[in-house]
Amino acid sequence: MMLNDKTAIITGAASPRGIGKATARRLAAQGCRVAIFDLDEEAAMNAARDIGSEHIGVACDVRDPAFCRKAVGDVMARFGHVDILVNNAGISQPDRLMDITQENFDLVIDSSLRGSLNMAQATVPSMIERRSGAIVSIGSIAAQIGGGIFGGPHYSAAKGGIHSLTKSMARELAQHNIRVNAIAPGTIDTDIFGDKLTEDKRRDIVVNIPLGRLGTADDIAKACLFLVSDLSDYVTGLILDVNGGRFMH
Ligand code: NDP
Repeated sequence: MMLNDKTAIITGAASPRGIGKATARRLAAQGCRVAIFDLDEEAAMNAARDIGSEHIGVACDVRDPAFCRKAVGDVMARFGHVDILVNNAGISQPDRLMDITQENFDLVIDSSLRGSLNMAQATVPSMIERRSGAIVSIGSIAAQIGGGIFGGPHYSAAKGGIHSLTKSMARELAQHNIRVNAIAPGTIDTDIFGDKLTEDKRRDIVVNIPLGRLGTADDIAKACLFLVSDLSDYVTGLILDVNGGRFMH
């Protein structure tokens, strides 16, 4: 059990086939207590119950700093401290440049980039107090190759922001023994694309993936487990590509 007595918060983890829930399962299997944060409280509570009775589901809209502080306060009241934060919440919007409205831009940036900042600000004090912590944020290949399959320029910018935020936080928080890393997934087979990921589209994508398949939510969950566990205790400021070889630096 690599994560005994640890407490993790994972945002956007109620989606049944999503990266967050798969990560919650992986961390829980290593003895971690997990708090599943999501917009819909009932969905978050159901997801937590699926994983085991010791875990909790909490309503949280990561765009709102006060909501984040309140939800983290609930976790502190229940479990006493927070050791691990996984910034996974995010939305994908396919708009092209000239179709992006101010509202859409704010929605996409706030759901992932601002949300990651809000959650870090809400959880880092507990980590500093214990002189220990691990933060992992979910970035994207979209920030590395000029766009995602279904993500527009605002999505790429949000994820690029996450990569930069990760490195700056890693440098600043290292003195407190808090490690900060990100994962840049390739195309992962979840519900984020709705019905846009047709069979034809899948084939087009897979042609460009050396490992010959789309990623699974669990592929990302395993990378996340590595980054929050002692297996990576000398790793900070890393953007870890998990993309089947589709993009290589
Ligand atoms: P899902 O849509 O399955 O999961 C995302 C979850 O985040 C949903 O439960 C969603 O809730 C929740 N969410 C959205 N906005 C907020 C918010 N403001 N506050 C709290 N929760 C919120 O997507 P994935 O599992 O595929 O994606 C997880 C992360 O991975 C995202 O950040 C995504 O951008 C990133 N990613 C995904 C890739 C992929 O190919 N799937 C590739 C690269 C990165 P609701 O359903 O109610 O909107």
